[in-house]
Amino acid sequence: MIIENISHSRIDKIDFNDISFGNHYSDHMFYCKFENGKWKNPIIKPFGDITVSPLSLVFHYGQAIFEGMKAYKDKYGNVFLFRPLENFNRLNSSAKRLEMPLISKSLFRDGLKKLLSIDKKWIPNNYGQSLYIRPFLIASDGKLSANPSKKYIFMIICTTASNYYLTPLKVKIEQKYSRSADGGIGFTKAAGNYASSFYPTRIAQEEGYDQILWTDSSTHSFIEESGTMNVFFYIKNNLITAPANKKILNGITRKSIITIAKKEGIKVKECNFSVSELIYNLRKNLVKEIFGCGTAVVVNHFKKIGYKFKNYYLPNISNKKRISFFLKKNLLDIQHNVINDPFGWRFKV
Ligand code: PMP
Repeated sequence: MIIENISHSRIDKIDFNDISFGNHYSDHMFYCKFENGKWKNPIIKPFGDITVSPLSLVFHYGQAIFEGMKAYKDKYGNVFLFRPLENFNRLNSSAKRLEMPLISKSLFRDGLKKLLSIDKKWIPNNYGQSLYIRPFLIASDGKLSANPSKKYIFMIICTTASNYYLTPLKVKIEQKYSRSADGGIGFTKAAGNYASSFYPTRIAQEEGYDQILWTDSSTHSFIEESGTMNVFFYIKNNLITAPANKKILNGITRKSIITIAKKEGIKVKECNFSVSELIYNLRKNLVKEIFGCGTAVVVNHFKKIGYKFKNYYLPNISNKKRISFFLKKNLLDIQHNVINDPFGWRFKV
């Protein structure tokens, strides 16, 4: 792999006590091209603009996928990734569905490891902070007919992160738009899934909400996800979440929360959960907590649910008593090497 180092690091300009998600990109990026049926010439170079043809199919037909993962430091400065194989497998399952070339494990692992070793100082030391890693794959060649590209670019960039969405969320149950449909690409991290969510999310925000609680596309009567998070309901001592099917992103945080909860003796139900059941339980004050989870946010609880012009409020309990807080702390403790990792999720870099 070729390494082109930056001449001056930008890191001195960063106040690590004040980092918000996506504001600061690390000094370097990984870049690799796919041509003539092969990934070739992987390179690490200074973070910066890239040049692509205006014919690139990413611009016209949206062949673009990505991943989101994090690197953490423990208090001794050791660096860990969290379940990176899951991201690798999901990237390739997205690639397959969007008719893009697969990435080999060695390319993914070596690119990531090298980039992290070069930009190690960008991984924050503080508990709850991390370096968010964005591997992505775009179609970089084509002609203006709707066919898969023959050339692609695979890149990895990194941004400093603390757990964003720090305040409890106001969420609207969506009754018109959807992010995913039967036979579609809801289970992938395809860029278009996100583009199509911006408009309904803006409408929800104009109505005073932060995020959308997505429902199924055909009936809008079953809950799927929220924003870019999987979602959990804590009702009558059961943790309920939608099954990871072809319409829902199979979140790595979701999977991990389910495993931790089960180990802690919490009952977990992965089942179709209807809007009417949720509203019934909200009316009866039986919903203790609702929370979303994902790599970027980790875990964030909701305070208000909007449905058909009516708002329902979740109990205002202290963080210490929240099951979401307990699960979040367990997860962060594993990620930051504060406690044992009984599941083998930490990957030392
Ligand atoms: N759902 C969607 C739509 C997402 O974009 C994300 C973030 N990747 C998640 C759920 C959570 O997935 P993960 O825990 O793997 O980050």
